[in-house]
Amino acid sequence: MPDDQSSRPSSRYDLLFEPLAIGPVTAKNRFYQVPHCNGGGYRDPSAVAEMRRVKSEGGWGVIFTEQVEIHQTSEISPFIELRLWEDKDMPMMAKMAEAMKSHDALAGIELAYSGINGPNLYTKEVPLAATGGPILTFTSDPVSARSLEKAEIRDVRRWYVNAAKRARDCGYDLICLYGAHGFGIIQHFLSRTTNKRSDEYGGSLENRSRFMREVITDIREAVGDTMGVTVRLSLDEAFDDLSFSNSELRDCIEMHGDLPDLWDLAHGTWEDCSGTSRFKDEGAQEDLIRGIKNLTSKPVVGVGRFTSPDAMVRQIKSGILDFIGAARPSIADPFLPKKIKEGRFDDIRECIGCNICVTGDMTMSISRCTQNPTFMEEWRKGWHPENKPAKGESQSVLVIGSGPAGLEAARMLGGRGYDVALAEAKNTLGGRIAQERLLPNLSAWGRVMDYRLGQIEPMANVSIYRDSNLTAEDVISFGFQHICIATGSIWRRDGTARAHLKPIPISAAMPLYTPDDIMAGDFPSDLLTQKHVLIYDDDHYYMGGVMAELLREKGCEVTLITPANCVSEWTHNTLEQGFIQARLIDKGINLRCSNRVNAVADDHVTLACVYSGKTSELAANAVVMVTARDGDDALWQGVKSRQAEWQDAGIRSVKLIGDAAAPAPIAWATYAGHRYAMELDAPDHGDEPCFRREVTALED
Ligand code: ADP
Ligand code: SF4
Repeated sequence: MPDDQSSRPSSRYDLLFEPLAIGPVTAKNRFYQVPHCNGGGYRDPSAVAEMRRVKSEGGWGVIFTEQVEIHQTSEISPFIELRLWEDKDMPMMAKMAEAMKSHDALAGIELAYSGINGPNLYTKEVPLAATGGPILTFTSDPVSARSLEKAEIRDVRRWYVNAAKRARDCGYDLICLYGAHGFGIIQHFLSRTTNKRSDEYGGSLENRSRFMREVITDIREAVGDTMGVTVRLSLDEAFDDLSFSNSELRDCIEMHGDLPDLWDLAHGTWEDCSGTSRFKDEGAQEDLIRGIKNLTSKPVVGVGRFTSPDAMVRQIKSGILDFIGAARPSIADPFLPKKIKEGRFDDIRECIGCNICVTGDMTMSISRCTQNPTFMEEWRKGWHPENKPAKGESQSVLVIGSGPAGLEAARMLGGRGYDVALAEAKNTLGGRIAQERLLPNLSAWGRVMDYRLGQIEPMANVSIYRDSNLTAEDVISFGFQHICIATGSIWRRDGTARAHLKPIPISAAMPLYTPDDIMAGDFPSDLLTQKHVLIYDDDHYYMGGVMAELLREKGCEVTLITPANCVSEWTHNTLEQGFIQARLIDKGINLRCSNRVNAVADDHVTLACVYSGKTSELAANAVVMVTARDGDDALWQGVKSRQAEWQDAGIRSVKLIGDAAAPAPIAWATYAGHRYAMELDAPDHGDEPCFRREVTALED
């Protein structure tokens, strides 16, 4: 149903709800969900469609697909996006368009030909690029692309048109030609880094933009009477001195001002564009985009992890943007536009900028969101980011632990209508979030607890008990029907993790700490000045690097040792690894990669190269172990050992969730809390999967 704009009281956010034309179609407001991956793509099309439908319901004016490969000669397996190679792909793509338009949003499709970025591992076709050369992918595949011959450029143009016609027939309103992040051939032609042609498609900017101009013109001729044709370009390629720089982009837009129906602008690399809150603030691309609107009469969209309505209004009022582009903010809160429209600002679930959503794509699994556990579970599990099923037959639940798992469980259980008691051992609520938000550049992570506490505190049926370190006796005697134990985890201090599956020898004379000690302020002040602290990181996510930064800031000399070939290795998946390593080097932190710590002596550690086994010694005044975490399941074990008493005590179930069950990133904890609350009083799935999935249809 169309939104009734007239019944809304006027506010300073009205500007965000003004309609705007994009070529022949009109967006109902300025909320523009730019293309984003989800780790599901063609393998999970119904899950993707339902995820986009929820955004339509949440009030977005424009909703885009992730990148859609237009032809089998250019694909980016193993990454799982969408495909529109042949008619067979159309039902899947039509289902998505229908879902996007279900609540009056414009449905957009991002067409991609990957050129130098497509290794064709699946189709085994020879990759074709503006200029041939080694394929540029995350995984440095040992494959090269061949330069397109002129006749083949005509083929690619035709493939774009074929895809555009199919997109129109699937019901899409908008086409976006992908030419950003180094991923799309439109950019490869524009940039002298990837276009070294000497024909009329290379050399001058006019020549390099010929391909883009031809493709847009072809598509407009084919479908432009009904569809808006947009182009997504990099704001600043920043690769080398030949890159498609911000000033060249401005020249290009000036040259072709009215060519597309909208300019969609995104920072250079994906890493730059989707920077985490540890490295980039909200609106970080403003300097690169300011003034571009003066070069064109067509609307401009840009991104910036916008979650603040005031920041959005400022972008439009000050003439920087026409549309507020958002990927991650729309994942964390698909109902962001609706909440702003209704003035429900406290209900906005702000993205924390952690990029866990990106890891679903990078690991080809399926995306999660730290803030929104329902993301990509809308179809698989029938979860909805706002709606909660009514309470089942039981009445009361005791949730123990107020970390992300416990808080999310309490929020959802309270919302469903259960009588909930949330007990926390400490005086401070929030569990690991309360501590980790104080670490360098992680303050935005505090939104995980702020949002949940903001939701829980007004609930009359949820009682919060601080300073309540519960024992098994407490749990048995309180008389709650269901017990949810979310007691978190503890960092190990014995060196056990991946490189060592058993404890290593450690001298009691060496001062030894874990992140728990440091976050609790137990690191002695006499170690803070000029003393050499070794951080042993066999965890490989953010904590090792963050500890190094913290201790360096406090004046220690710091060496970070890791068995991996680079620091914080898993953060390749959050697009942060390069930034982390650069920051640690900049701060003067010594890095010793590819080494495990074999033993900790009184005043030094023994290292061993993970390849050769060659050992060396490194003097130290203290060691910080960032290795494995153990679930803190002592309470669970205590309650379980008294299972015979449960029935008399009125206890129907006891469950261990979150880090206490299996330590993992915060997104796993919010998911566990959500799942616990959704499954309470629900039928048991027995041996079957507790989610729906699509199985490949068999052909003859
Ligand atoms: P998760 O990420 O799984 O939510 P956290 O470590 O963030 O786990 O939070 C666990 C919380 O549980 C901590 O705040 C901790 O103080 C609290 N806690 C641990 N044991 C008890 C207990 N016996 N009674 C009450 N709270 C507890
Ligand atoms: Fe934002 Fe993190 Fe959710 Fe991604 S996973 S949308 S970065 S909160």
